[in-house]
Amino acid sequence: MGENITRREALRKIYEALVVIGASAFISFEDLLAADNTVAEKPMVVWLHGTSCSGCSTAFLNIEDVPVVDLITKFVSLVFHPDLSSATGHQFIEILDQLTQSGKGYILVFEGGIPVKMPHTCMIADKPLTYWVERLAAKATACIGAGTCATLGGIASMDPVTGNIPLDRFLEQRNISKPIVNIPSCPMKPEHITYTILHLLKKGSLPELDKHFRPKKFFARTIHERCLYYADYQEGHFAEFVGDSGCLFRLGCQGPVTRNDCIIMGYNGNTNTCIKAGHPCIGCAGEKFPRQIMFHRFDDPRVIKNKF
Ligand code: SF4
Ligand code: SF4
Repeated sequence: MGENITRREALRKIYEALVVIGASAFISFEDLLAADNTVAEKPMVVWLHGTSCSGCSTAFLNIEDVPVVDLITKFVSLVFHPDLSSATGHQFIEILDQLTQSGKGYILVFEGGIPVKMPHTCMIADKPLTYWVERLAAKATACIGAGTCATLGGIASMDPVTGNIPLDRFLEQRNISKPIVNIPSCPMKPEHITYTILHLLKKGSLPELDKHFRPKKFFARTIHERCLYYADYQEGHFAEFVGDSGCLFRLGCQGPVTRNDCIIMGYNGNTNTCIKAGHPCIGCAGEKFPRQIMFHRFDDPRVIKNKF
């Protein structure tokens, strides 16, 4: 049974635990679902979009391991989500005023990029997004960057005009020091963020993170290390066209430089993922995504050499 403690004690414990990195990389999704809550009250979550396509939210809503309604009602208290909440304008302001003035902790989930050079391109309730992120992050218990745009730049940063930057860099620039979890992938996998939130709720701490704040459980190893074509790579059996059997390296596969668990956990309830479908990894969870030249033919003179 979980400990019977007050909310304040629970939040203090969460915060203490956030900075203590435990050997938690091996706790399974199922273990977390089955465990009693360590935290006395379910955490509040406010979710914001920056320059985003909403793909990560869509992926989150499509999770198959847990009913999404349970996720946003039983496991967390979802205070605001731009796609799910009907509040706009002054209602949105009231919700966030109440939240930030309540003194209660919450998790800020942020999806998309932050356009610091063109703040007026991303306004919420007459104020630029930068204002809201700064204000909400300052009082959050922890922040989660959802998807590659929010964590590494991604598609949102392709055009430098808007000056899009990911959440961790924004917080650093504004001197806001918070525990942060980065969950790259385009879109992020719903299992990754759900695991992170469940870990906080059930274990009272964030999962073990790497130096880029990514959960080690999912991002410790490259696609290449566990690839079904690894033997082909070693033996020099390379695919010539997409769909061929054999290692996809010469078709521009980014598996050797991309950390993700796609070979273990694919998309849509693990139905499939790029390489299993015969397509090179395009490095959607990597810092160089998207590259200017995304695809290559075998012996294509544009093949990037030594530029990984
Ligand atoms: S297909 Fe990609 S990830 Fe798999 S072995 Fe080849 S280069 Fe590595
Ligand atoms: S295989 Fe590569 S491109 Fe495909 S989803 Fe995984 S990290 Fe992204």
